[in-house]
Amino acid sequence: MTEGPAKPSLRLRITAAAETIVRGGHPWVFAQSVREQNRPGATGELAVIFDRNNRFLAVGLYDAQSPIRVRVLHAGKPQQIDSQWWQQRTAAACAIRQNLFDSQTTGYRCINGENDGWPGLVLDQYDTTRVLKLYTAAWLSRLDEMVVLLKGKGRLVLRLSRNIQKQAHDDFALDDGQILHGAPLEGPVLFMENGLRFEADVLRGQKTGFYLDQRENRRNVESLAQGRSVLNLFSYSGGFSLYAARGGAARVCSLDISEHALAAARRNFALNQGHPTVAQCRHETLQTDAFLWLRQNPDERFDLIVFDPPSLAKRETEKEDALAAYAKLIEASLARLQKNGILVAASCSAHVSADEFFNLTRAAAQKSGRKFNELRTTRHPADHPATFPEGEYLKCIYLGFVD
Ligand code: SAH
Repeated sequence: MTEGPAKPSLRLRITAAAETIVRGGHPWVFAQSVREQNRPGATGELAVIFDRNNRFLAVGLYDAQSPIRVRVLHAGKPQQIDSQWWQQRTAAACAIRQNLFDSQTTGYRCINGENDGWPGLVLDQYDTTRVLKLYTAAWLSRLDEMVVLLKGKGRLVLRLSRNIQKQAHDDFALDDGQILHGAPLEGPVLFMENGLRFEADVLRGQKTGFYLDQRENRRNVESLAQGRSVLNLFSYSGGFSLYAARGGAARVCSLDISEHALAAARRNFALNQGHPTVAQCRHETLQTDAFLWLRQNPDERFDLIVFDPPSLAKRETEKEDALAAYAKLIEASLARLQKNGILVAASCSAHVSADEFFNLTRAAAQKSGRKFNELRTTRHPADHPATFPEGEYLKCIYLGFVD
């Protein structure tokens, strides 16, 4: 904690519009919404927000560097943020996951940032290793307290988003990939998802090492894969590929721009040779740019194409370009899709809404002139709740073509 005993607590007033937004449960107060504060704030300290009638409105984590100046921890009745409160909040996040998974799934999200009341903080479980990923420097001064709460029974690994790595290193001697608790670690850890074994590169991999949010879509793909040739575009470590293989796909091609990711995909196939269908499936990896490859590549056709690109709109101004890129991706994928094929199109761009993405995909499918059925659409899985608009990023649509 950075509060010294002599300092008065940090008190803020915000614009009327921001008051309404916070009262409605939104967790962010932007810098330009702050009308006045009693003193300069330090990153990581608690800021109490009062409304225009001088009543308590909310309390949150102050971040002097970020355009999101306060991340709300609690709004409504006055609330003391003490160790008991933090314990209750930890228990609440655990409780909603309690009956979601059986022993065949040991990888899942325990805390999903703002959506679980922990703004800018994610906690993922991979068997006995937990990964704590911070997206705001506001947590750095509170880390010791958080480690006690969140360490679980095994190892705890710290991951830091790129924008806070320098500050973490310079001011707190904390580094990305550092072990905060438990045994040292050199490489990836192993865990299970629906009975399939995977490695997660928790020290250096993308996000916290694996895309746990796609678990249910992967399961759906497994049920559609029997006898098909499958193309997994933006495959990362082969999550969709393994499920397709276990589902009886004759052949799976994992395509990614990262050779590091594809090497992990090959190792994940090796880990699952105990499943006869995986052992029988022909798996190929292709290291290339998906957009280029789709444009250049030949007449090869697939019966099932999955695409799950990285976020194509990191900010609102990139949205139009992202929509155009998705449209191209869908069109090019359809050109590679065999008669009676299935397209599974996923998007994780928060700035593109689910409806926009679904409508874009439907429109592109209609434009192809081919007949299709919409098999299903999906959103967030239960361990990745989305409770405010910016927290909603994941959507996926399944189209089955009948010619
Ligand atoms: N579907 C995956 C997650 C995909 S993450 C899963 O279920 O685990 C996005 C992936 O796209 C990353 O692995 C990244 O390396 C890859 N990628 C980014 N740009 C790419 C491009 N232009 N062509 C191919 N792959 C790309």
